[in-house]
Amino acid sequence: MELACPDDHIRPQRLGDFIGQEELRANLAVYLQAARERGQAMDHTLFYGNPGLGKTTLARIMASELGVNLVCTSGPVLERGGDLAAILTNLARNDILFVDEIHRMPAAVEEILYPAMEDFSLDLIIGQGPAARTVKIDLEPFTLVGATTRLGLLTSPLRDRFGALLRLEFYSPEELARIVHRASRILQTTVDEDGALEIGRRSRGTPRIANRLLRRVRDFAAVQGKDVISKDVASQALERMDVDEHGLDQMDRKLLEVLIHHYGGGPAGVKTLAVAVGEEVRTIEDIYEPFLIQRGFLKRTPRGRVATARAYKHLGLLMGV
Ligand code: ADP
Repeated sequence: MELACPDDHIRPQRLGDFIGQEELRANLAVYLQAARERGQAMDHTLFYGNPGLGKTTLARIMASELGVNLVCTSGPVLERGGDLAAILTNLARNDILFVDEIHRMPAAVEEILYPAMEDFSLDLIIGQGPAARTVKIDLEPFTLVGATTRLGLLTSPLRDRFGALLRLEFYSPEELARIVHRASRILQTTVDEDGALEIGRRSRGTPRIANRLLRRVRDFAAVQGKDVISKDVASQALERMDVDEHGLDQMDRKLLEVLIHHYGGGPAGVKTLAVAVGEEVRTIEDIYEPFLIQRGFLKRTPRGRVATARAYKHLGLLMGV
């Protein structure tokens, strides 16, 4: 149930290459240095934040900064306790176990994790019925690095066992422009300052999206015979991809339009919206909503989602008409 750790040549390998998230990065640097000096496994660490903000990248960086192995898995693939036990017993001293989507781990698997996190041991039950007995197996000290989209999705016993809870925020357009520059050097393509900022501005505060848009813009530039990705080249390509000047894509706009045209601007429940736009509730909650809320296009109220005046304006509509 171990998965190949995601890797690509754009992904930063060291903390010094990781752009943005200044406070998180400064704190992480201290924790890493302290663990290195003590020669011990680092405290269990949880990264939480939207998809594509750098959680997996940071887990990889932690392993390379500490000079230990990175072993990867994810909550939903760990179906039985035995799946996790097999991974844990194979870890070497101070290794990092990265569990993506840790909130989706089944309860039975989570219970195996508690003693493993607390005192590096496994309580295995051998046999069945009255003859069953518990055997304690010692594990090598290790660091669990968990990733989740929202802290609230974790059970509190699990959350409480992490020594560090680190939140990733959306990136500013300027930080994303630096990420685009760095990626363009690796991809051997040239982007000027304004071109990088244009891509950064339309990337929904998310490095994964910035890198994806850069690759597509590069295709448009190549086909048009442009050597440099300027602001014009970038904005034309992004228009063609239906990414508007705020970074909203077709689905973002569809969500706002449905909310406004079919439900009078809300409040409407997320399930209703999901059916109306033909998307999964989880995708809407994890990917679309946080950005729309952060940028002030959508509000979450106890009675459902509500479109803001900014959403009406952005879609060229008058409120209450
Ligand atoms: P998550 O695990 O949060 O979904 P990832 O760590 O997989 O996100 O990051 C997605 C992509 O964005 C990676 O390929 C990586 O290259 C890039 N990336 C993320 N954060 C940064 C950053 N701070 N600086 C540069 N590139 C980044």
